[in-house]
Amino acid sequence: GRSWHLASRPHGTPVPENFALREEPVRAPGEGEVLVRNTHLSVDPYMRGRMNDQKSYVPPFALDQPMDGAAIGEVVASEAEGLVPGDLVVHNLGWREYATLPARYSGPVPRDTSRPSVYLGVLGMPGFTAWVGLREIAGLREGDAVFVSGAAGAVGSTAGQLARLMGASRVVGSAGSAAKVELLTTEYGFDAAFDYRAAPVREQLPEAAPDGIDVYFDNVGGDHLEAALTAMRTHGRIVLCGMIAQYNATEPPPGPNNLGLMVGKRLRAQGMIVTDHEASRPEFQKQVTAWVESGELRYRETVVEGLENTPEALLGVLRGDNTGKMIVRL
Ligand code: NDP
Repeated sequence: GRSWHLASRPHGTPVPENFALREEPVRAPGEGEVLVRNTHLSVDPYMRGRMNDQKSYVPPFALDQPMDGAAIGEVVASEAEGLVPGDLVVHNLGWREYATLPARYSGPVPRDTSRPSVYLGVLGMPGFTAWVGLREIAGLREGDAVFVSGAAGAVGSTAGQLARLMGASRVVGSAGSAAKVELLTTEYGFDAAFDYRAAPVREQLPEAAPDGIDVYFDNVGGDHLEAALTAMRTHGRIVLCGMIAQYNATEPPPGPNNLGLMVGKRLRAQGMIVTDHEASRPEFQKQVTAWVESGELRYRETVVEGLENTPEALLGVLRGDNTGKMIVRL
């Protein structure tokens, strides 16, 4: 089976030479293991960080070793109780065609699901991130005004809609194109949205949220965070979820120049890593599955075809080629 290896570490934006597609022997499953043929791979912004040799909450990809990440696949051979060929599972050995892994490192995907890839998106890690951020980090309350950046992406589109479903009074979003902005206000029910590439965020945010914001869900950092600090109301809460504006940076980005506002406004900003919140996952699954099934929570996917295009799909996420969750279909 073929798998993607990290061939070299990028400086700034990754280039094709950083990745190498190599043939590896497929190992038969041992006791308690399954062999899975991957059908859908996830590419996520955090993978860019793993291409660097740096200490973080998740170890870097090793050079000349298979890369990994979330994936969905079909069990083709099983030495594990409870799993039989034909079952679908979600697991963490993506970036490859075949994966052999202990069954206990996989999760079930309902066999009757019409769209297994939702378990990599709205009902998977990104959806859970949005839910945890609002519920457990922001402590979203009825009547809060919420601003979400990266709002047309996997986490952001879910966060904006969940905020509304959880009782926000006003939901505002930013994204990187006119088409994405249109989607926010039509399909996802944002009250206002703007294209951050069209004019400075510090000019557009006050127009979209004239009475200020109580909760800022930050996927971007940089100019977005700075503008949000100015727009925050007293006792506002900021979810520091991601800072995608700087993932390809070669120089340390300038910090927000208005952090002092946090004092007078008594703001609270908290970083989060979704994997710390596993205990809440069943509640998320139950609540958000119901909202997806009722049609109250909508989602989109951008699908790239073929294992050979996985690096390009990751670059696409970092550029904004995707609307909703970026998926690679094998
Ligand atoms: P998305 O589906 O949102 O894809 C990333 C999007 O980021 C792109 O589509 C692009 O949209 C936008 N983007 C890229 N560069 C910039 C930029 N310079 N300024 C503003 N926007 C930019 O990805 P995810 O939903 O998977 O992730 C969203 C964020 O959440 C990321 O920061 C990620 O690291 C973070 N995250 C954090 C987790 C945690 O546990 N803390 C877990 C999961 C995700 P556009 O066209 O609008 O520019």
